[in-house]
Amino acid sequence: QSQDRIFNFAAGPATLPENVLKKAESELYIWRGSGMSVMEMSHRGKDFLSIIQKAESDLRTLLNISSDYAVLFLQGGATSQFAAIPLNLCKPDDTVDYMVTGSWSDKAFKEAQKYCKPNVIWSGKSEKYTNIPPFDALEQNPAAKYLHICANETIHGVEFKNYPTPENNDGILIADMSSNFCSKPVDVSKFGIIYAGAQKNVGPSGVTIVIIRKDLIGNAQGITPVMLDYKIHAENNSLYNTPPCYGIYMCGLVFEDLLEQGGLPEIEKKNMKKAEILYNTIDGSNGFYRCPVDKSVRSLMNVPFTLEKPDLEAEFIKKAAEEKMVQLKGHRSVGGIRASIYNAMPLAGVEKLVAFMKDFQARHG
Ligand code: PLP
Repeated sequence: QSQDRIFNFAAGPATLPENVLKKAESELYIWRGSGMSVMEMSHRGKDFLSIIQKAESDLRTLLNISSDYAVLFLQGGATSQFAAIPLNLCKPDDTVDYMVTGSWSDKAFKEAQKYCKPNVIWSGKSEKYTNIPPFDALEQNPAAKYLHICANETIHGVEFKNYPTPENNDGILIADMSSNFCSKPVDVSKFGIIYAGAQKNVGPSGVTIVIIRKDLIGNAQGITPVMLDYKIHAENNSLYNTPPCYGIYMCGLVFEDLLEQGGLPEIEKKNMKKAEILYNTIDGSNGFYRCPVDKSVRSLMNVPFTLEKPDLEAEFIKKAAEEKMVQLKGHRSVGGIRASIYNAMPLAGVEKLVAFMKDFQARHG
Protein backbone atom coordinates (compact mmCIF):
# COMPACT_ATOMS: atom_id res chain seq x y z
CA GLN A 1 0.00 0.00 0.00
CA SER A 2 1.06 3.62 -0.40
CA GLN A 3 3.64 5.10 1.94
CA ASP A 4 1.27 7.66 3.38
CA ARG A 5 -1.36 5.12 4.48
CA ILE A 6 -1.04 3.53 7.88
CA PHE A 7 -1.99 0.00 8.83
CA ASN A 8 -5.32 0.31 10.60
CA PHE A 9 -6.19 -2.68 12.79
CA ALA A 10 -9.51 -1.21 13.95
CA ALA A 11 -12.49 -3.49 14.55
CA GLY A 12 -14.83 -1.19 12.69
CA PRO A 13 -15.17 1.14 10.94
CA ALA A 14 -12.20 -0.64 9.49
CA THR A 15 -9.62 -0.37 6.75
CA LEU A 16 -10.92 -0.51 3.17
CA PRO A 17 -9.05 -1.75 0.09
CA GLU A 18 -6.83 1.03 -1.19
CA ASN A 19 -7.78 0.40 -4.82
CA VAL A 20 -11.47 0.74 -3.91
CA LEU A 21 -10.83 4.08 -2.21
CA LYS A 22 -8.87 5.27 -5.25
CA LYS A 23 -11.63 4.21 -7.60
CA ALA A 24 -14.17 6.07 -5.45
CA GLU A 25 -11.91 9.11 -5.44
CA SER A 26 -11.62 9.04 -9.22
CA GLU A 27 -15.39 9.25 -9.58
CA LEU A 28 -16.15 11.31 -6.48
CA TYR A 29 -17.21 14.51 -8.27
CA ILE A 30 -18.58 13.06 -11.46
CA TRP A 31 -19.88 9.51 -11.50
CA ARG A 32 -19.42 8.00 -14.95
CA GLY A 33 -20.74 10.77 -17.15
CA SER A 34 -23.74 11.52 -14.94
CA GLY A 35 -22.46 15.04 -14.25
CA MET A 36 -22.76 14.57 -10.49
CA SER A 37 -21.52 12.68 -7.48
CA VAL A 38 -23.28 9.52 -6.27
CA MET A 39 -23.99 11.52 -3.10
CA GLU A 40 -26.11 13.97 -5.09
CA MET A 41 -28.17 11.53 -7.13
CA SER A 42 -31.82 10.70 -6.76
CA HIS A 43 -32.14 7.28 -5.24
CA ARG A 44 -34.90 6.61 -7.74
CA GLY A 45 -32.96 7.72 -10.83
CA LYS A 46 -31.57 5.23 -13.34
CA ASP A 47 -27.95 5.85 -12.35
CA PHE A 48 -28.44 4.94 -8.71
CA LEU A 49 -30.71 2.05 -9.64
CA SER A 50 -27.91 0.63 -11.75
CA ILE A 51 -25.54 1.00 -8.75
CA ILE A 52 -27.76 -0.78 -6.23
CA GLN A 53 -28.76 -3.50 -8.68
CA LYS A 54 -25.14 -4.22 -9.58
CA ALA A 55 -24.19 -4.29 -5.88
CA GLU A 56 -26.95 -6.81 -5.19
CA SER A 57 -26.13 -8.95 -8.17
CA ASP A 58 -22.39 -9.04 -7.34
CA LEU A 59 -23.18 -9.98 -3.74
CA ARG A 60 -25.46 -12.75 -5.01
CA THR A 61 -22.61 -14.04 -7.16
CA LEU A 62 -20.07 -13.84 -4.34
CA LEU A 63 -22.19 -15.77 -1.85
CA ASN A 64 -24.10 -17.83 -4.41
CA ILE A 65 -27.42 -16.53 -3.06
CA SER A 66 -30.45 -18.20 -4.66
CA SER A 67 -33.66 -16.47 -5.72
CA ASP A 68 -35.33 -17.93 -2.60
CA TYR A 69 -33.62 -15.14 -0.70
CA ALA A 70 -34.12 -11.37 -0.65
CA VAL A 71 -31.06 -9.14 -0.26
CA LEU A 72 -31.79 -5.90 1.57
CA PHE A 73 -29.57 -2.83 2.02
CA LEU A 74 -30.81 -1.16 5.20
CA GLN A 75 -29.80 1.37 7.83
CA GLY A 76 -29.65 1.28 11.61
CA GLY A 77 -26.65 -1.03 11.96
CA ALA A 78 -26.66 -4.67 12.96
CA THR A 79 -28.02 -3.41 16.27
CA SER A 80 -31.39 -2.62 14.67
CA GLN A 81 -31.54 -6.20 13.44
CA PHE A 82 -31.38 -7.42 17.05
CA ALA A 83 -34.92 -6.01 17.32
CA ALA A 84 -36.09 -6.50 13.74
CA ILE A 85 -35.56 -10.27 13.85
CA PRO A 86 -37.90 -11.08 16.75
CA LEU A 87 -40.34 -8.41 15.60
CA ASN A 88 -40.61 -9.96 12.15
CA LEU A 89 -40.44 -13.64 13.04
CA CYS A 90 -42.24 -13.92 16.39
CA LYS A 91 -45.36 -13.13 18.31
CA PRO A 92 -44.72 -11.79 21.86
CA ASP A 93 -45.23 -15.23 23.46
CA ASP A 94 -43.06 -17.18 21.04
CA THR A 95 -39.87 -18.75 22.33
CA VAL A 96 -36.55 -18.53 20.47
CA ASP A 97 -33.06 -19.89 21.19
CA TYR A 98 -29.83 -17.91 21.49
CA MET A 99 -26.28 -19.16 21.80
CA VAL A 100 -24.31 -16.55 23.72
CA THR A 101 -20.68 -16.80 22.68
CA GLY A 102 -19.64 -13.22 23.41
CA SER A 103 -20.80 -9.64 23.89
CA TRP A 104 -22.61 -9.33 20.57
CA SER A 105 -24.80 -12.39 20.84
CA ASP A 106 -25.53 -11.33 24.42
CA LYS A 107 -26.74 -7.95 23.16
CA ALA A 108 -28.89 -9.63 20.51
CA PHE A 109 -30.43 -11.87 23.19
CA LYS A 110 -31.15 -8.95 25.51
CA GLU A 111 -32.85 -6.94 22.78
CA ALA A 112 -35.02 -9.94 21.83
CA GLN A 113 -36.34 -10.06 25.41
CA LYS A 114 -38.42 -6.99 24.59
CA TYR A 115 -40.29 -8.65 21.73
CA CYS A 116 -40.55 -12.39 22.44
CA LYS A 117 -39.36 -15.02 24.91
CA PRO A 118 -35.74 -15.87 24.16
CA ASN A 119 -33.80 -18.64 25.95
CA VAL A 120 -30.05 -18.75 26.28
CA ILE A 121 -29.33 -22.38 25.38
CA TRP A 122 -25.60 -21.97 25.91
CA SER A 123 -23.44 -19.23 27.36
CA GLY A 124 -19.65 -18.97 27.33
CA LYS A 125 -19.67 -16.25 29.97
CA SER A 126 -18.23 -18.39 32.79
CA GLU A 127 -15.27 -19.23 30.51
CA LYS A 128 -14.91 -15.55 29.57
CA TYR A 129 -16.17 -16.30 26.07
CA THR A 130 -13.27 -18.34 24.82
CA ASN A 131 -15.11 -21.32 23.38
CA ILE A 132 -18.04 -22.70 21.42
CA PRO A 133 -19.56 -25.97 22.69
CA PRO A 134 -19.95 -29.18 20.68
CA PHE A 135 -23.31 -28.85 18.97
CA ASP A 136 -24.65 -32.15 20.27
CA ALA A 137 -24.39 -30.73 23.79
CA LEU A 138 -26.89 -27.99 22.96
CA GLU A 139 -30.34 -28.34 24.43
CA GLN A 140 -32.41 -26.70 21.76
CA ASN A 141 -36.05 -25.96 22.35
CA PRO A 142 -38.11 -27.71 19.67
CA ALA A 143 -40.79 -25.02 19.94
CA ALA A 144 -38.30 -22.21 19.32
CA LYS A 145 -39.02 -20.11 16.25
CA TYR A 146 -35.35 -19.80 15.43
CA LEU A 147 -31.82 -20.37 16.68
CA HIS A 148 -29.65 -17.25 16.72
CA ILE A 149 -25.84 -17.20 16.67
CA CYS A 150 -23.15 -14.59 16.20
CA ALA A 151 -20.88 -16.17 13.59
CA ASN A 152 -17.88 -14.13 14.70
CA GLU A 153 -17.63 -12.37 18.04
CA THR A 154 -15.74 -9.20 17.21
CA ILE A 155 -14.69 -8.41 20.79
CA HIS A 156 -13.80 -11.90 22.02
CA GLY A 157 -12.36 -13.29 18.77
CA VAL A 158 -14.51 -16.44 18.75
CA GLU A 159 -15.67 -17.69 15.34
CA PHE A 160 -17.94 -20.56 14.32
CA LYS A 161 -16.08 -22.90 11.94
CA ASN A 162 -19.27 -24.80 11.16
CA TYR A 163 -22.85 -24.23 12.16
CA PRO A 164 -25.36 -25.98 14.43
CA THR A 165 -28.38 -27.57 12.81
CA PRO A 166 -31.47 -25.88 14.19
CA GLU A 167 -33.96 -28.31 15.71
CA ASN A 168 -36.72 -25.75 15.99
CA ASN A 169 -40.00 -26.18 14.09
CA ASP A 170 -39.02 -24.69 10.79
CA GLY A 171 -35.28 -25.26 11.06
CA ILE A 172 -34.44 -21.59 11.06
CA LEU A 173 -30.84 -20.60 11.80
CA ILE A 174 -30.05 -16.88 12.03
CA ALA A 175 -26.54 -15.47 12.07
CA ASP A 176 -25.03 -12.10 12.82
CA MET A 177 -22.11 -12.09 10.39
CA SER A 178 -21.18 -8.44 10.89
CA SER A 179 -17.50 -9.12 11.44
CA ASN A 180 -16.87 -12.03 9.10
CA PHE A 181 -19.23 -11.22 6.25
CA CYS A 182 -17.70 -12.09 2.88
CA SER A 183 -14.47 -13.27 4.54
CA LYS A 184 -15.01 -16.87 3.38
CA PRO A 185 -17.58 -18.91 1.46
CA VAL A 186 -20.84 -19.55 3.33
CA ASP A 187 -23.67 -21.89 2.39
CA VAL A 188 -26.47 -19.34 2.56
CA SER A 189 -29.12 -22.05 2.11
CA LYS A 190 -28.41 -23.25 5.67
CA PHE A 191 -29.69 -19.94 7.09
CA GLY A 192 -33.03 -18.22 7.44
CA ILE A 193 -31.37 -14.84 7.88
CA ILE A 194 -27.79 -13.61 7.61
CA TYR A 195 -27.20 -10.01 8.58
CA ALA A 196 -24.17 -7.75 8.81
CA GLY A 197 -23.17 -4.16 9.34
CA ALA A 198 -20.98 -3.22 6.38
CA GLN A 199 -18.29 -1.33 8.24
CA LYS A 200 -15.86 -4.18 8.84
CA ASN A 201 -15.44 -6.17 5.67
CA VAL A 202 -17.50 -4.62 2.90
CA GLY A 203 -17.85 -0.86 3.17
CA PRO A 204 -18.42 2.19 5.32
CA SER A 205 -20.75 2.32 8.31
CA GLY A 206 -24.35 3.20 7.59
CA VAL A 207 -25.24 0.19 5.47
CA THR A 208 -26.65 -2.99 6.99
CA ILE A 209 -27.07 -6.00 4.76
CA VAL A 210 -29.84 -8.53 5.40
CA ILE A 211 -30.11 -11.76 3.42
CA ILE A 212 -33.46 -13.33 4.25
CA ARG A 213 -35.34 -16.38 3.01
CA LYS A 214 -38.40 -14.98 1.32
CA ASP A 215 -40.93 -17.19 3.11
CA LEU A 216 -39.91 -15.57 6.43
CA ILE A 217 -41.04 -12.16 5.23
CA GLY A 218 -44.50 -10.77 5.92
CA ASN A 219 -45.39 -11.77 9.49
CA ALA A 220 -44.19 -8.76 11.47
CA GLN A 221 -45.84 -7.89 14.77
CA GLY A 222 -48.31 -5.00 14.54
CA ILE A 223 -46.07 -2.72 16.58
CA THR A 224 -43.11 -3.15 14.20
CA PRO A 225 -41.80 0.24 13.06
CA VAL A 226 -42.02 0.55 9.32
CA MET A 227 -38.23 0.88 9.11
CA LEU A 228 -37.79 -2.55 10.72
CA ASP A 229 -40.40 -4.36 8.63
CA TYR A 230 -38.70 -6.69 6.15
CA LYS A 231 -41.82 -6.83 3.98
CA ILE A 232 -41.76 -3.08 3.38
CA HIS A 233 -38.08 -3.14 2.41
CA ALA A 234 -38.34 -6.29 0.28
CA GLU A 235 -41.37 -5.02 -1.66
CA ASN A 236 -39.58 -1.77 -2.35
CA ASN A 237 -36.18 -3.25 -3.22
CA SER A 238 -34.56 -1.37 -0.31
CA LEU A 239 -35.91 1.93 -1.68
CA TYR A 240 -38.93 2.46 0.59
CA ASN A 241 -37.24 5.57 1.96
CA THR A 242 -33.92 7.21 1.10
CA PRO A 243 -31.29 4.48 1.45
CA PRO A 244 -27.65 5.08 2.42
CA CYS A 245 -26.80 5.68 -1.24
CA TYR A 246 -23.10 6.43 -1.02
CA GLY A 247 -22.46 3.56 1.36
CA ILE A 248 -24.25 1.15 -0.96
CA TYR A 249 -22.13 2.42 -3.83
CA MET A 250 -18.96 1.78 -1.77
CA CYS A 251 -20.14 -1.73 -0.87
CA GLY A 252 -20.68 -2.32 -4.58
CA LEU A 253 -17.07 -1.33 -5.31
CA VAL A 254 -15.87 -3.73 -2.60
CA PHE A 255 -17.98 -6.59 -4.01
CA GLU A 256 -16.48 -5.96 -7.46
CA ASP A 257 -13.02 -6.02 -5.94
CA LEU A 258 -13.70 -9.31 -4.10
CA LEU A 259 -14.90 -10.88 -7.35
CA GLU A 260 -11.83 -9.59 -9.18
CA GLN A 261 -9.64 -11.21 -6.53
CA GLY A 262 -11.22 -14.58 -7.41
CA GLY A 263 -14.22 -14.62 -5.07
CA LEU A 264 -14.56 -15.82 -1.50
CA PRO A 265 -12.49 -19.05 -1.73
CA GLU A 266 -9.47 -16.92 -2.66
CA ILE A 267 -10.29 -14.34 0.01
CA GLU A 268 -10.51 -17.09 2.62
CA LYS A 269 -7.06 -18.39 1.66
CA LYS A 270 -5.57 -14.93 2.14
CA ASN A 271 -7.36 -14.50 5.45
CA MET A 272 -6.14 -17.89 6.70
CA LYS A 273 -2.57 -17.03 5.84
CA LYS A 274 -2.73 -13.71 7.69
CA ALA A 275 -4.36 -15.24 10.77
CA GLU A 276 -1.91 -18.14 10.81
CA ILE A 277 1.20 -15.99 10.98
CA LEU A 278 -0.29 -13.86 13.72
CA TYR A 279 -1.50 -16.76 15.90
CA ASN A 280 1.80 -18.59 15.33
CA THR A 281 3.68 -15.57 16.58
CA ILE A 282 1.49 -15.41 19.69
CA ASP A 283 1.72 -19.16 20.39
CA GLY A 284 5.46 -19.23 19.67
CA SER A 285 6.28 -16.43 22.11
CA ASN A 286 6.83 -18.65 25.18
CA GLY A 287 3.96 -16.95 26.95
CA PHE A 288 5.07 -13.37 26.29
CA TYR A 289 1.87 -13.00 24.24
CA ARG A 290 -1.20 -15.06 24.95
CA CYS A 291 -4.49 -15.58 23.11
CA PRO A 292 -7.15 -16.92 25.48
CA VAL A 293 -9.45 -18.32 22.76
CA ASP A 294 -9.64 -22.10 22.24
CA LYS A 295 -7.60 -22.94 19.13
CA SER A 296 -10.52 -24.65 17.40
CA VAL A 297 -12.64 -21.48 17.31
CA ARG A 298 -10.10 -18.69 16.89
CA SER A 299 -11.35 -15.93 14.64
CA LEU A 300 -9.69 -15.24 11.30
CA MET A 301 -10.82 -11.63 11.61
CA ASN A 302 -10.32 -10.39 15.18
CA VAL A 303 -7.27 -11.58 17.09
CA PRO A 304 -7.35 -10.65 20.79
CA PHE A 305 -4.26 -11.21 22.89
CA THR A 306 -2.70 -10.14 26.15
CA LEU A 307 0.85 -9.56 27.26
CA GLU A 308 2.36 -11.60 30.07
CA LYS A 309 3.28 -8.30 31.69
CA PRO A 310 0.07 -6.26 31.38
CA ASP A 311 1.84 -3.02 32.28
CA LEU A 312 3.65 -3.26 28.94
CA GLU A 313 0.43 -3.12 26.94
CA ALA A 314 0.22 0.66 26.80
CA GLU A 315 3.85 0.79 25.64
CA PHE A 316 3.11 -1.85 22.98
CA ILE A 317 0.21 0.18 21.60
CA LYS A 318 2.19 3.42 21.67
CA LYS A 319 5.26 2.00 19.95
CA ALA A 320 3.15 0.25 17.32
CA ALA A 321 1.42 3.53 16.54
CA GLU A 322 4.82 5.21 16.13
CA GLU A 323 5.50 2.59 13.47
CA LYS A 324 2.21 3.38 11.72
CA MET A 325 0.19 0.48 13.08
CA VAL A 326 -2.87 1.86 14.82
CA GLN A 327 -6.05 0.87 16.65
CA LEU A 328 -4.51 -2.12 18.40
CA LYS A 329 -6.12 -1.51 21.78
CA GLY A 330 -8.51 -4.24 22.88
CA HIS A 331 -12.18 -3.39 23.35
CA ARG A 332 -12.75 -1.31 26.48
CA SER A 333 -14.76 -4.17 28.03
CA VAL A 334 -11.93 -6.74 27.86
CA GLY A 335 -8.68 -4.75 27.60
CA GLY A 336 -5.50 -6.24 26.17
CA ILE A 337 -4.65 -6.00 22.49
CA ARG A 338 -6.85 -6.76 19.51
CA ALA A 339 -5.69 -6.88 15.91
CA SER A 340 -8.57 -6.89 13.46
CA ILE A 341 -7.35 -8.27 10.17
CA TYR A 342 -10.34 -8.05 7.86
CA ASN A 343 -10.27 -8.72 4.12
CA ALA A 344 -8.76 -5.34 3.34
CA MET A 345 -5.79 -5.69 5.71
CA PRO A 346 -2.88 -6.53 3.41
CA LEU A 347 -0.58 -9.44 4.25
CA ALA A 348 2.19 -6.81 4.48
CA GLY A 349 0.34 -5.21 7.41
CA VAL A 350 0.26 -8.46 9.36
CA GLU A 351 3.89 -9.19 8.48
CA LYS A 352 4.87 -5.81 9.78
CA LEU A 353 2.88 -6.39 12.98
CA VAL A 354 4.49 -9.77 13.71
CA ALA A 355 7.97 -8.37 13.03
CA PHE A 356 7.17 -5.59 15.50
CA MET A 357 5.86 -8.10 18.05
CA LYS A 358 9.03 -10.18 17.86
CA ASP A 359 11.20 -7.12 18.20
CA PHE A 360 9.13 -5.82 21.13
CA GLN A 361 9.50 -9.17 22.86
CA ALA A 362 13.25 -9.19 22.26
CA ARG A 363 13.48 -5.78 23.90
CA HIS A 364 11.16 -6.47 26.85
CA GLY A 365 11.07 -10.28 27.24
N1 PLP B 1 -22.66 -7.51 15.77
C1 PLP B 1 -21.33 -7.62 15.71
C2 PLP B 1 -20.72 -8.99 15.61
C3 PLP B 1 -20.54 -6.48 15.74
O1 PLP B 1 -19.20 -6.58 15.69
C4 PLP B 1 -21.14 -5.21 15.82
C5 PLP B 1 -20.36 -3.95 15.84
O2 PLP B 1 -19.22 -3.85 16.09
C6 PLP B 1 -22.53 -5.16 15.90
C7 PLP B 1 -23.26 -6.32 15.85
C8 PLP B 1 -23.24 -3.84 16.00
O3 PLP B 1 -23.20 -3.27 14.75
P1 PLP B 1 -23.68 -1.79 14.44
O4 PLP B 1 -22.71 -0.89 15.11
O5 PLP B 1 -23.63 -1.77 12.95
O6 PLP B 1 -25.05 -1.64 14.98
